[in-house]
Amino acid sequence: MTLYRDDGVVLRVQKLGEADRIITVLTRRHGRVRAVAKGVRRTKSKFGARLEPFSHVDCQFYAGRSLDIVNQAEGVRNYGAELVADYPRYTAGTAVLETAERLTAEEQEPSLRLFLLVIGALRALVEAEHDPRLVLDAYLLRAMAVAGWEPALDACAKCGAAGPHRAFSIAGGGVMCPACRPSGSVTPAAETVLLLSALLTGHWPAADASEPAVRREGSGLVAAHLQWHLERGLRSLPYVERADPANSAVPADPLSARLRRTASAESQSPEGYEVGRR
Ligand SMILES: [Zn+2]
Repeated sequence: MTLYRDDGVVLRVQKLGEADRIITVLTRRHGRVRAVAKGVRRTKSKFGARLEPFSHVDCQFYAGRSLDIVNQAEGVRNYGAELVADYPRYTAGTAVLETAERLTAEEQEPSLRLFLLVIGALRALVEAEHDPRLVLDAYLLRAMAVAGWEPALDACAKCGAAGPHRAFSIAGGGVMCPACRPSGSVTPAAETVLLLSALLTGHWPAADASEPAVRREGSGLVAAHLQWHLERGLRSLPYVERADPANSAVPADPLSARLRRTASAESQSPEGYEVGRR
């Protein structure tokens, strides 16, 4: 059996039989790894306690025939323990982990950039210097860029004409010039598109200064863009939206609802993406 060592963030833990667990880890060098942790549920071992979601751990794995086996784990940092007391930050973190799993389609395909984005997002959520929803949206935009789905935010998504442009089409991939804009594209506030650019490039002073309504509209665009590209909606995203106290103060987000309808209407895909499924 081949032995390898790598550090990673535990994305998910599932029960296996009476005493074992299957852990899903996004590692630094081996991409997403699923591995069996034996005996961790029967004993009250520190080993098992380290292998919880949100934990950054340094592990030793044996490459198995079907699943690998993890037999050592040293804790690097347990972000879960620091997030669990703060519901909005915790649910934003849950969406970070779920997105990381969904964006790594193949086991053990290296994804260092995504790993670093996950670590950066968890650290930012723990440090609590920014609105957790801004941290999540910055992560989602950058993770989509890594996946090749970066939305166009300045030049037209179709013809490349220099921006800024007012029309935004989820199916079209971002902002569009007057000549290219499809019917049913939406017109977010200019500040909202600037916020998304700031989040994508890490310009935090501009992002932190944004108005709540602009943040809500930005979150709606990011969520619609992500759900358009994923075949199934994220389970954790609706909880993040509900956890936002600013959001519950308004009856509904009309732009998000409109975006979901528009993206569905524009869909040419035979599979029928479940855009904005709730
Ligand atoms: Zn154009």
